[in-house]
Amino acid sequence: MRLLESDSLVLHSFDYRETSRIVRIATRDAGVLSVIARGARRPKSPFGSAIDLFTSGVAHVRVNPARDLHTLTGFDATRSRSELAGSLARFTAASAVAELCLRFANEDDSGRVHDAATSVLDAIGVATPDDVPAIALAGAWRVVAELGFAPSLDQCATCHADLVADEPVTFDHRAGGALCARCARLGPRGRLFPAEARETLRAWLDGTESALGDSSTRRAHQRLLREFLEEHLADGKPLRAFATWEAQSFSHAPAEHA
Ligand SMILES: [Zn+2]
Repeated sequence: MRLLESDSLVLHSFDYRETSRIVRIATRDAGVLSVIARGARRPKSPFGSAIDLFTSGVAHVRVNPARDLHTLTGFDATRSRSELAGSLARFTAASAVAELCLRFANEDDSGRVHDAATSVLDAIGVATPDDVPAIALAGAWRVVAELGFAPSLDQCATCHADLVADEPVTFDHRAGGALCARCARLGPRGRLFPAEARETLRAWLDGTESALGDSSTRRAHQRLLREFLEEHLADGKPLRAFATWEAQSFSHAPAEHA
């Protein structure tokens, strides 16, 4: 057994048997791990509230090389992020980001997911409800870029021809990005991808802030991201937290304050 001590972020947590919890953490040194926190549900648990959702801290893990479930021996919380639970807009967006990290966990062999996710959650935590969708979308696309499968936007994803910047193109999830007019004509798939949407997505992937326009623009971007992720996952399982996030921001009233 190897002992691991690593900066970590709690992405998911659920009860296990009478007294324990199973927690999925993004670590800086070993990617995403499933760990069991024995006794975490006891009244005098040594973990206390340290392993609450979205908490950052130093995880002490006994790594079991033969299994996918490891043992959490301690968690020194450094940041609780309780602000994410205080607003539905923040919480649903943060949950979608966490789901993205969990579903693509196998593609992370380093701390890329940990570092990208913590910065997105911090940004969501200080955003006003109206700004949350753009910040969460930008952050989710940066996680995608960190994982190495950012969509092609300036060259055709199929034939690699340069695309004119300010013209609408077709976005084909299966091809992995924007298509030139010739390749778009060859296949029936894809969505119309307006020039402004491509501009916004390019900014997000570069790590630049870009606000969203009206609610229909926001919904189009949420749908584009979800469809892109589902195509890449290719396992037929829906992204439940993404669906909840989309439904929530669908009904989100601009007057909400948090
Ligand atoms: Zn092409």
